[in-house]
Amino acid sequence: MTTSYWERTAKKEVFAPLDKDLETEVLIVGAGITGLMTAWNLMQAGKKAVVVEARTIGSGVSGNTTAHLNSSVDCDYHIVTRNFGKDTAKLVAEAAVLGIELVGQVDKAHNLNANYKKLPAYIYAETTDQILELQKELKAAKEAGLDVEEVEEIEGLNFPTGMVVRFNRNARFHPLKFVYGLADTLRDAGVQIHEQTRVEKHNDKGDHVEVTLSTGATVRAQHLVLATHSPIFMHPVHTRMAPYRSYAIAVRTRQPVPDALIYDMRDPYNYVRKEEDDVVIIGGADHKTGQTGDENNHLQSIKAWAEERFGIKEYLASWSAQVFEPADNLPFIGKSITHKRVYYGSGYSGDGTLWGSFAGYLLSDIILGKENKFAELFSPSRLNIKAEAGEFLKENLNVAKEFITDRFSSDASDVKEIQNGEGKILRQGLQQYAVYRDDQGGLHVMSPTCVHMGCVVQWNKMEKTWDCPCHGGRYTATGDQLSGPPATGLRKAEI
Ligand SMILES: Cc1cc2nc3c(=O)[nH]c(=O)nc-3n(C[C@H](O)[C@H](O)[C@H](O)COP(=O)(O)OP(=O)(O)OC[C@H]3O[C@@H](n4cnc5c(N)ncnc54)[C@H](O)[C@@H]3O)c2cc1C
Repeated sequence: MTTSYWERTAKKEVFAPLDKDLETEVLIVGAGITGLMTAWNLMQAGKKAVVVEARTIGSGVSGNTTAHLNSSVDCDYHIVTRNFGKDTAKLVAEAAVLGIELVGQVDKAHNLNANYKKLPAYIYAETTDQILELQKELKAAKEAGLDVEEVEEIEGLNFPTGMVVRFNRNARFHPLKFVYGLADTLRDAGVQIHEQTRVEKHNDKGDHVEVTLSTGATVRAQHLVLATHSPIFMHPVHTRMAPYRSYAIAVRTRQPVPDALIYDMRDPYNYVRKEEDDVVIIGGADHKTGQTGDENNHLQSIKAWAEERFGIKEYLASWSAQVFEPADNLPFIGKSITHKRVYYGSGYSGDGTLWGSFAGYLLSDIILGKENKFAELFSPSRLNIKAEAGEFLKENLNVAKEFITDRFSSDASDVKEIQNGEGKILRQGLQQYAVYRDDQGGLHVMSPTCVHMGCVVQWNKMEKTWDCPCHGGRYTATGDQLSGPPATGLRKAEI
């Protein structure tokens, strides 16, 4: 798997696994920005929370992001206004700004030194269609109360752009300096955090939830927060959002890059920001998970975009991870529809650092039983047919297609066709296998059926993982659960 620029430039402490049974008021599953910000808000309110993390703190998407804190969120204010009305668009804008501010407040309050910096965000349109779209977005964002305006140009940018809109008061930060620092702060304040501790099962016991961990220990909690990006066990919501892979590079450039958040309007879009003085982070090239020939081609496309505009002097890192696009464009943050003691934040699109920050605040209020004006809007129980039906149908037809067609496809018919370090879907008779040959030549054979809802996983050539094209379940080359909806790994098989 790839290593992000953030992982290369931040230092983490080790937290021991949880191997003893435990009782707590709140169990938080997942130590990314959502889980840790929820723990922080609960700590401020004096509520006892324990955090368990399957791998290491920040090893999920929070450590593989590009960390723009940008109020011009992917849900598009003109679309939210059209589907939900102007008042809702105002609430969304207010929530996004709060998410940005909270990161800054926590960074400052605890001296996390996470390079949090306020700066403007620019979106530029290059074609007539994009200009029309951007004009609609400018109007809706203004009406939603954001500090946004049309400007002549992006100051300091070395190539011409068409129409440009500037969103003021946004920010950037170093996500892992933030997440690692926050984990240390929480631990010092008495919050228990455990790494290498995977939640494998949960049982609703009426007045509490019982959770089984990979270490063999059991936790009894009054409230369970699934901060796992895609909430494990919560099947209904998995059908209401779609997994997309997204790519990023960190480089030193020959041409100067302005210190701002900059986005074009292509589909998929490209975007750029600085980190330190001479380090530039460029992202984009999104595509539906598991539905591309070779992931490396997507990485090449952002490299080419960057080379053409800024000239690349030095590559520092390249990485990729996954985002979840909700069918009605808004994140799901709140209480589960099906499990009364379970809560989650998900469906963040490409804005999950600010939504994760905001989710920590909202989930904490809901658990504490406080009134919150945002609760209904982001609740997983909302249903707006007008906003959701089209995307829901499109994405679920795509799932049905993948479910059926991948059962008849294969990459190889003999293990000899699999090179060291490579994985392939092997067909022998009617049977399919997910087969990985490690660097020493050893074969690892698994069932290719995703344990979540039964689709056939696909080999990700860039990350060397098995990715499910239906709901974004991901597994390591040897079949351990990595991320997405499944809570356990691929089943072992023999050929
Ligand atoms: C390339 C890329 C660029 C992005 N850029 C931006 C950006 O510029 N701005 C922005 O706002 N957002 C961006 N995003 C989105 C954002 O980074 C994510 O939405 C956000 O980090 C999600 O945080 P999280 O805490 O919810 O999930 P994660 O950080 O993924 O944390 C979930 C954690 O749960 C753990 N876990 C999973 N299953 C279990 C289990 N069974 N038991 C215990 N633990 C478990 C995982 O190991 C993981 O550590 C980007 C995403 C990508 C992929």
